[in-house]
Amino acid sequence: MLSDPVVKVKGVGEKFAEDLAIFPILTVNDLLNYFPYRYDVMEIKPLSELIHEDKVTIEGRVVHDPALTFFGKRKSRLSFTIEVENIAVKAVMFNRAFAKKQIQAGDTITLTGKWDMHRLQITVSKYKLGPADTQSEIQPIYSVKGDVTNYKLRKIIKHAVEEYGDEIVELLPQRYLEAYKLPNRKDGTQTMHFPTNRIALKHARRRFTYEEFLLFQLKMQLLRKIKREATTGNAQHYDPAKVQHFIELFPFALTAAQQKSLNQILSDLKSPYRMNRLLQGDVGSGKTAVAAVALYAAITAGKQGALMVPTEILAEQHYQSLTALFGEHANIALLTGSVKGKKRKMLTAAIKNHDIHIVVGTHALIQDDVTFDDLGFAIVDEQHRFGVEQRRSLRDKGLHPDVLFMTATPIPRTLAITAFGDMDVSVIDEMPMGRKEIETFWTRENTFERVLRFIEKQISLGEQAYVICPLIEESDKLDIQNAVDLHQQLQEFYPPGTKVGLMHGRLPANEKDEIMKQFAANEIQVLVSTTVVEVGVNVPNATIMVIYDAERFGLSQLHQLRGRVGRGEKQSYCILIADPKGEVGKERMRIMTETTNGFELSEQDLKLRGPGDFFGKKQSGIPEFKVADMIHDYRALETARKDAQEIIETNKLENDAAFYPLKQYLENDAFLKSKLD
Ligand code: ADP
Ligand code: MG
Repeated sequence: MLSDPVVKVKGVGEKFAEDLAIFPILTVNDLLNYFPYRYDVMEIKPLSELIHEDKVTIEGRVVHDPALTFFGKRKSRLSFTIEVENIAVKAVMFNRAFAKKQIQAGDTITLTGKWDMHRLQITVSKYKLGPADTQSEIQPIYSVKGDVTNYKLRKIIKHAVEEYGDEIVELLPQRYLEAYKLPNRKDGTQTMHFPTNRIALKHARRRFTYEEFLLFQLKMQLLRKIKREATTGNAQHYDPAKVQHFIELFPFALTAAQQKSLNQILSDLKSPYRMNRLLQGDVGSGKTAVAAVALYAAITAGKQGALMVPTEILAEQHYQSLTALFGEHANIALLTGSVKGKKRKMLTAAIKNHDIHIVVGTHALIQDDVTFDDLGFAIVDEQHRFGVEQRRSLRDKGLHPDVLFMTATPIPRTLAITAFGDMDVSVIDEMPMGRKEIETFWTRENTFERVLRFIEKQISLGEQAYVICPLIEESDKLDIQNAVDLHQQLQEFYPPGTKVGLMHGRLPANEKDEIMKQFAANEIQVLVSTTVVEVGVNVPNATIMVIYDAERFGLSQLHQLRGRVGRGEKQSYCILIADPKGEVGKERMRIMTETTNGFELSEQDLKLRGPGDFFGKKQSGIPEFKVADMIHDYRALETARKDAQEIIETNKLENDAAFYPLKQYLENDAFLKSKLD
């Protein structure tokens, strides 16, 4: 049986089985599913195309019987000549005396080894009697260590395939194999280990890529469904006519992407399940507008709403934009740490007796003294800035409220599908019309003075600028020193009438707020800042973003910073000062100057950095796939996701016999079990 311990395979002893356990390869099945991580393709090329010292494969006729010489302790050397394209090539083979008997004059032989162009000689690492199977030899390379070598592994896998191959059962329904032209599991397994040609290998890999993605998606979506049905929510019977009317009062029409996201959110509200949705969209794409409509819908259903944001400044800004959008349609309150004493008492009383419909606030929202009459809908902005506990506290302020998370950090679709597989995701991927594109330039460090002159010119037109300081890794202290120096440098550079502000992480919160307020009021014209500080505020009059040492930042971060400008009517500029050393750095700068679309940037960032690094840390909830490559096999991921969705939604695991093996597999899956306990 495939579940037999691996020691049952011919050629595997107790000791070797122990070595294999580390991988972990415990059963025959584990062994058969231990696929090569790459393949060396040895192609037979004309002698003239072979590169000196490369590993090459040639095919020729043995001219005379090999000569065997011994040297050192039990060392041997076998040499013979073969004729390739009428040219005599010398072949040398070390320590394989036994091959002398097999190789005879007149035979055709295929040799792989290191090529010496000058001596027309090949040092053979592998040989095969007879002609090459095809014009290329594909060599599987496994990830191995210690006593488990590629050679040994290949040998025992061969035995395992021979002895157990017939037991490999199909997991996927036949109709998928046919639709996507995938080999069955047995043939696919055989090909993964012993590929005979590239095309067969390609299809085998396609098969396992799809299988991996499908299984993963099935697990995530099953989890989502189970969680969803296990959590009580409430069906909010909002008034669609009123909601429509509310939208029509906006001074603009919603973009198609806004409308689509809104519809998804509204349908969550209406459903009896609890909403668990992430709304993604670039800064300025109109998330707040969508949130406002959804909040209004909840109000028409007799509920209260809450919007929690990470900083006071953001709370104030959201409060202002919501008040403007709502007008007379709701009573909105702002609740932050600065609301204290009697004022706070009055406010919390008004929230409790439902005089207030919507509360915008910071952490102050989740303090004990805040109770709602009936909180039905809670929104968390910049959700990654809050801990699980904080999000839960907000949720606990109501009776099964719907919760929407918002983020302005675009996450590549592939990652969103995998990392947030158990969440619903809505995306606003277009900007409202008429928005001016931010012009982005990349310059070298020695042009800094010109950059300062440019800022001066724009200031004279009444505009403002941010200057982001170089970042010194691992040293908060040096970082601040840098900011202080740069601040001073700029103060000296500009005439006294121009005020240069300084912002960094060590400033007390109230000072930070004060400086931001001054900047927002144009009392400060140039704001020097470290990135430690989120300049997460809307100052529409700021039109220039200068980023020092831009090559040190990831694309997403650069994009976030750039998003601080371009919020008003005027043309905005982003100037990247960078002297990147490597190609990747240069590529990043180029991409920044070419696109302002956050999703496109995030996809590019993912390509440059790889999925593991994308969130900055390794354990980011992104699974590691064995065969599949999230970036490269993106289309397969999409397909698998669609299929998984259909399987779960139409309950195929239960109703359709073709899905029985999948059902069985999932029932035995350790990951799912651990999540459901
Ligand atoms: P976000 O929250 O995604 O940063 P906002 O909802 O605050 O974006 O919108 C940014 C600005 O664009 C606001 O001034 C808002 O009034 C405006 N806006 C939002 N949606 C549209 C739209 N569809 N057409 C024109 N302007 C819009
Ligand atoms: Mg609901």
